[in-house]
Amino acid sequence: MASQEIERLTAALARLPGLGPRSARRAVLWLIKRREGALVELVEALGAVRATLVECGTCGNVDTTDPCSICADPRRDARALCVVEEVADLWALDRARLFTGRYHVLGGRLSALDGVRPEDLTIDRLLARVAAGGIDEVLLAMNATLEGQTTAHYIAERLEGLPVRVTQLAHGLPVGGELDYLDEGTLAQAIRARRPLG
Ligand SMILES: [Zn+2]
Repeated sequence: MASQEIERLTAALARLPGLGPRSARRAVLWLIKRREGALVELVEALGAVRATLVECGTCGNVDTTDPCSICADPRRDARALCVVEEVADLWALDRARLFTGRYHVLGGRLSALDGVRPEDLTIDRLLARVAAGGIDEVLLAMNATLEGQTTAHYIAERLEGLPVRVTQLAHGLPVGGELDYLDEGTLAQAIRARRPLG
């Protein structure tokens, strides 16, 4: 019978994506055996993340500064804006190192099924950014899912009338493909071959 503390840790780990109760229990046992090493390291890393991470008030990225290091980087092209569903997508695209502009994180995708409406996402903030001027291209980098594409078309409609070119990632992304799971070569190709949305 494990102690309450161990049960609590196991339950917390079991909620992580990709882990279940079985692997959580294995991870806990592994950590207990390394009380002075890996466990300390994990506690410190978690504490540091909790204490320092903030959401960027401009783009929605998660970083240790607000504005985030991408928004604050003068070498990035302020005239190109890439719109993504989640922070994980931003990180995936940025790892591919082909897009040199800035980002906008929506915080999800429109979904009738899950009851996600336009006002639940940062679409108004995106429109305000574009309306403020200085942006030539808005690249809609939604996932190749039905909900992702519905979201892209909705945003493209809302952008109509604003003086920007609206593009999307090249097709060839696997249908149902989530950006976060694609390899960097595939992502880079999708960015390079991006095309007007229509
Ligand atoms: Zn930012």
